[in-house]
Amino acid sequence: MEPIKTLNARIAVLATGGTIAGQAGDASKTAGYKAGVVGVDKLLEAVPALSQVAQIHAEQIASIDSKDMSTALWIALSQRINALLAQDDIDGIVVTHGTDTLEETAYFLHLTVKSDKPVVLTAAMRPSTALSADGPLNLLNAVTVAAQKCAWKQGVLVAFNNQIHSARDVTKTSTYAVDAFRSPEVGALGWVQDGRVEFQRAAVRPHTTQAPFDTQAALPAVEIVASYAGASRAAIDAFVGGGVKGIVIAGTGNGSVHATLQQALADATKQGVAVVRSSRVGSGHVMRNGAASDDALGSVSAGTLNPYKARVLLMLALAANITKPAAIQQTFDTF
Ligand code: ASP
Repeated sequence: MEPIKTLNARIAVLATGGTIAGQAGDASKTAGYKAGVVGVDKLLEAVPALSQVAQIHAEQIASIDSKDMSTALWIALSQRINALLAQDDIDGIVVTHGTDTLEETAYFLHLTVKSDKPVVLTAAMRPSTALSADGPLNLLNAVTVAAQKCAWKQGVLVAFNNQIHSARDVTKTSTYAVDAFRSPEVGALGWVQDGRVEFQRAAVRPHTTQAPFDTQAALPAVEIVASYAGASRAAIDAFVGGGVKGIVIAGTGNGSVHATLQQALADATKQGVAVVRSSRVGSGHVMRNGAASDDALGSVSAGTLNPYKARVLLMLALAANITKPAAIQQTFDTF
C-alpha cells in the first residue's frame, strides 16, 4: 500500500509522562531513573525532524509514571482528544505515555474516542537521558503515522520500535527490551520507518465511532483476581464485601479457575457481580464454556482480551448499563 502523506498535517501531541519523559543522573543508566519529569516541549526539541512531518500543537496532560494511571485521567484524556479531534485544524493525535499501562489506556481510548482521525500512542523503554534513548525515534514515527491518511479509521494505534499495533491486540512483553510491544498471535498492523508508513492488515472489530461507549457515566469498580496453586477466596470475598461491580479472573491456561475461587465466584455472581474469565497466559483465547461452565457460573469468557483489557471493557460495559451475563458476553464477542 502506498503511503498517502497529509502534507502539513496538524498533529496535537498530548504528553502524560512515562519513561519517554524519564530522567536519570547518568546517561549510562537505563534503570533506576525517574519517569515523567521531562516536559513535552523538551521532548519535541529533541526531535528537530518533526517540523518536516507536521505542525505540532503540544499539551502537557499529566506528568506521571504510568504505573499510577487512574480512570479519572483516562476520562480526562479521552475527553480532551475528542474535543481536539472535533476541531477542523487538528488532523490527528499523538499521546506520549509510559509503557507499563499503555495497553490499557490505548484500549480505553480505542472504545471511547469518537473520530475517524488517527490517534497514536507511543512510549519508550529507555529514559530521555539514556545513551541510545528510543523515545525520540518512537515520537517521530508516531507523528509520522498520525499524519497519514492511511491511518484514518484504524482505531487507536500504538507506534513503537518501527511497528504499528492495534490498541486491542498490543501488550507489553518485556521489562527492559526496546522491542517490548507485541500483538500475540495476530501480529502488528504494519510498520513505520524513515517516513514511510505501511499497513498490512486492518483491525476487524468495531472501535471508536462504531463503539457505543463514552465517558459520560462514572466507571464502576472492577477488580482483577489471579488463579494459581493454593489460591484462597479471601480476595474475591473482600472485593464483593467492598461493593465491587465486576471481577475479572486471570485464570490459568485456557481460563481455568481454581475450585476454591470458582465457588467464591459462583457466590459473587449470585449477588449480581459480573464475572469475566480471562487467561494469565499472555496469548490464545478463552472459550465460553471451555475450561469452566460459564452457563452454570453465570460468567462470561474474555475471548482474546488479556485480564487488563478485559477489565477496561467490563467497566465500560457496566457503565453503559450492559449488566446481564448474556449481554456482557455479546459485548466481549463484539469488541
Ligand atoms: N514505569 C514507566 C511508565 O510506565 C515505564 C515506561 O514508561 O517504560 O511510566
